[in-house]
Formats: sequence, C-alpha cells, structure tokens
Amino acid sequence: ENFIEIKNLEKTYDNGYQAIKSVSFSVKKGDLVCLLGPSGCGKTTTLNMIAGLLNPTGGDIIVDGKSMLNVEPKDRNIGYVFQNYALYPHMTVLQNVMFPMTVGKDKKPKAEAEKIARRFMKLTHIEELANEKPGNLSGGQQQRVSIARALVQEPQILLMDEPLSNLDARLRLKIREEIRALVKEVGITTLFVTHDQEEALSIGDKIILFHQGIIQQDDEGQNLYLEP
Ligand code: ADP
Ligand code: ADP
Repeated sequence: ENFIEIKNLEKTYDNGYQAIKSVSFSVKKGDLVCLLGPSGCGKTTTLNMIAGLLNPTGGDIIVDGKSMLNVEPKDRNIGYVFQNYALYPHMTVLQNVMFPMTVGKDKKPKAEAEKIARRFMKLTHIEELANEKPGNLSGGQQQRVSIARALVQEPQILLMDEPLSNLDARLRLKIREEIRALVKEVGITTLFVTHDQEEALSIGDKIILFHQGIIQQDDEGQNLYLEP
C-alpha cells in the first residue's frame, strides 16, 4: 500500500533552470524514507512541491490516492521541519508548539491546544523548557521544539529538510535516534532530506538517491551502491 506516489515530477524554475527533470518514487504508509544526494540535486525542490510551496511544471503528487496538485498548502496537512528550526523568537516554547492550533479556520480552544502541545513536548523531551524563549535553547533543543510544532496538527506526512545539519556531531547521532523512534511511535509517513550517506543508511527504511534532478537509485538499503 503506497501512501505517497510521485509520478514523473518536473520543476523548471522561472529562470529556465530545470531542477527536477523527471522524478518518480513511492512511499509506504508509516515509512521513513530518505532523499539523499549532494547539495543542489533537487531534494528541497521536491519537498517544497510536496508541501505545496512550489508548483511542479510537470507530473503528479498523489497522497492516499488523491492528487495534491490543486490542493492548497494548508489543506495538505503536512508537517515541515527546517534545517534552521524557524521558531518564533518572541514566543515561548509552549507558545511556539501551540501556534499551529491557534490559527486558521479549525483552531482549537486554548486549553485543548495546550494539552496537545504538552503531549508532544513530552514525546520530544522538552517539557521542562515550556516557558523558555528559543534564543535560550541549544540547537538540539530548538530542533525538538520545531519537531513538536510540526506534529501537533497530526499531519498525514512529515517533511524534514536536513534537520540535523546545524547540530554538532554528538548531538546529530542522538537526535537522529530520537527522530526515528518518534516517527515510529507516532506512525507518521516521513520524508527526510540529507546529504549524509551514513545518516541516511542509519535512519531510513528506504533511500532515494538523487543526482542532478533525477533519481539514480531507489532501494531499501542493502543493494545501494554509494560512492566511498
Ligand atoms: P538541494 O535541496 O538538493 O540542495 P535544491 O532543490 O535546493 O537542491 O536546488 C536544486 C537546484 O535548483 C539547485 O541548482 C538550485 O540552485 C536551483 N534552485 C533552487 N531554487 C531556485 C530558484 N528559486 N530559482 C532558480 N533555481 C533554483
Ligand atoms: P538548500 O540549503 O535547501 O540547498 P539553498 O541554499 O540552495 O537551499 O537555497 C536557499 C533559497 O535560495 C531557496 O529559497 C531557493 O529557492 C533559493 N535559490 C537557490 N538557488 C537559487 C537560484 N539559482 N536562483 C534563485 N534562487 C535560488
């Protein structure tokens, strides 16, 4: 049962640069799939099209049997975690995590939003930081906040773009284990972008290897050929 199907996806930017030539892959429900490849090969472009932040110039994105092409970003129900955390600096940790539930047409009553926020803060081990501002937190703590914030709306897909690359080596190992455990506990279908082979091999159920806007290999792991 494929939950996500990317079919012959293409993206040519307005300046004429063809960042995605033709990309097809599928993702099973609950899997954590890594998009691996060097800088500039089109990983972020692909995530942004899935999120609805960029329009494809060809192909289709099918989620749970339905094309996403004419679905507004806010109606795609996607959680997005960025490399640089993208937290609101003037808000506390609790306010940051509650934020997605306090805006939009189906916003929740404050008490309910807080309860849900605290549940995800517990899962990401940041309960004690509720009243801190992001500026007082370490990189790893900030990334945990941004992951909790991405999950509170119970998205159908979690997109993570190089979430570990601003962390030091020791913390990268720790947080990647936490991410894998969390994704499996919540059961959310996840696309994880990285340029780090070792990271992809350790965290992914499957690896999609990008090369200059195409997919070079697509494998569960053992048969992948990676450059040394
Ligand atoms: P990755 O995430 O793998 O590093 P990106 O998807 O960010 O790659 O970029 C793929 C290619 O598209 C790169 O060559 C990048 O310079 C180019 N690109 C990204 N955004 C734009 C844009 N807005 N206009 C033109 N080219 C872009
Ligand atoms: P990433 O770290 O994900 O690879 P980049 O640093 O390549 O991202 O790009 C950062 C921003 O600059 C993105 O919004 C991207 O769309 C834009 N961008 C990247 N390359 C180009 C380009 N050649 N022309 C215009 N915009 C670009």
